[in-house]
Amino acid sequence: MTTTFDPAIRDFLSGRIWLRRHTPFPREVIDAHIESKRILTIPGIQVKKRHPFCNRCENEDPARFTTFDCAKCGGPCTYCRHCLKMGRVSSCTELIIWNGEAPVFPTDHALAWEGTLTPRQKKASEELAESTAKQRSHLIYAVCGSGKTEILFEPIHRLLTEGKRVCLAAPRVDVILELEPRLRAAFPETSIEALYGGSESKTDTALQLVLATTHQLFRFRHAFDAVFVDEADAFPYTADEPLQRAVRKAAKPGVPVHFVTATPSDKLLADMKKNGNISTINRRYHGHPLPVPRYSTLWNYAKRIRKGKLPKKLVAWTEDRLKRKEPFLIFFHHIGLMEEALPLFEKLDPRIKAVHAAHPHRKEHVQMLRNKEVPGLLTTTILERGITIPNVQVAVAGAEQLIFNKGALIQIGGRVGRSAQHPAGDFVLFHHGITYAMDEAKREIQRLNEGRDTT
Ligand SMILES: [Zn+2]
Ligand SMILES: [Zn+2]
Repeated sequence: MTTTFDPAIRDFLSGRIWLRRHTPFPREVIDAHIESKRILTIPGIQVKKRHPFCNRCENEDPARFTTFDCAKCGGPCTYCRHCLKMGRVSSCTELIIWNGEAPVFPTDHALAWEGTLTPRQKKASEELAESTAKQRSHLIYAVCGSGKTEILFEPIHRLLTEGKRVCLAAPRVDVILELEPRLRAAFPETSIEALYGGSESKTDTALQLVLATTHQLFRFRHAFDAVFVDEADAFPYTADEPLQRAVRKAAKPGVPVHFVTATPSDKLLADMKKNGNISTINRRYHGHPLPVPRYSTLWNYAKRIRKGKLPKKLVAWTEDRLKRKEPFLIFFHHIGLMEEALPLFEKLDPRIKAVHAAHPHRKEHVQMLRNKEVPGLLTTTILERGITIPNVQVAVAGAEQLIFNKGALIQIGGRVGRSAQHPAGDFVLFHHGITYAMDEAKREIQRLNEGRDTT
């Protein structure tokens, strides 16, 4: 090994797994570090037990690989479709990992958050810190609006001052975008990066606190001393096993993964009861109860909307919000139906807009609702979590649809009454028939409000 290396490369690559040919550094420099064995190369796709295995995302589902005639290696070559969006990894692609001296992280970190925790938050925060110290997995099971992020501050701060590297991950980019300014304000001296599809990678410092969508963790390997997964029950995390493996892989071996959610799946609850610790918070930080949904029939709403007519009850509800100048969200199960409804809502107020996952102005529209530049938004379940808008009123148009399961409905209702100035609000489920999920969500909210433990 030669004695010199570029610390910028160490800081960038440490804990990451990256395409050899797509780093922010000149090829010769990377090649020289490979020569001196400070960088190791591994094949992108390996064959394990006669099946392909992706070394980046750990996908091993044979149905998610494609074999093609590769011009580069001149043979049949297999690539992974599961992590394709991050640049193709194929049999002849080389991945690189850092093999040299580990970066040393600073231990001086300010915690600038000046709020105070409620006694319940404080207890949960201490329990979480104890679990991280004991390397035991922990679940914060806390109702929407109970101040989950603030619970994490002290445990994260403690890890940072021990020179540890920490990741806060969430399945959805909206959650990351909402967390980023809060974390930057709370930890003003810490090197923080937020990683999501389309974000830019800095190369100048090693990042001690990483916020990332769970997808971005495909690019990490044995990087973190602690990983917190926020909104752990959100799609696609729960439905995607390689994604869960990627989160595991991003943590150093043996390091526990912690979870934070208002609506844990039965499986996560069972896992944590067996192998971890759970802190439960069933009160919002302002002490007011969760809004209980009310039901309102909206027979044949889809047919009516397709015929160019908004159901009267939906018109009345929307006009009421407009008159009272209350911001609102109306959830739809289907983008097509929502887009057919949009011009009908625009007749009530031309500023009303719609958002969905692939909408090019999704971020801007949500910001406009925050700034009161639009009176309300039509949305898919993409806004079911992570967003806080003071005094927002919420309707679900078609609450009987399958996509609105118990967890989704509880999350949607969780948007209402979050601020201490406006602790209540309307949460209406317009429906074409009442489902079990609706009743389950309502029952669970009532149970939480009565202060009964659901675990
Ligand atoms: Zn892959
Ligand atoms: Zn090839």
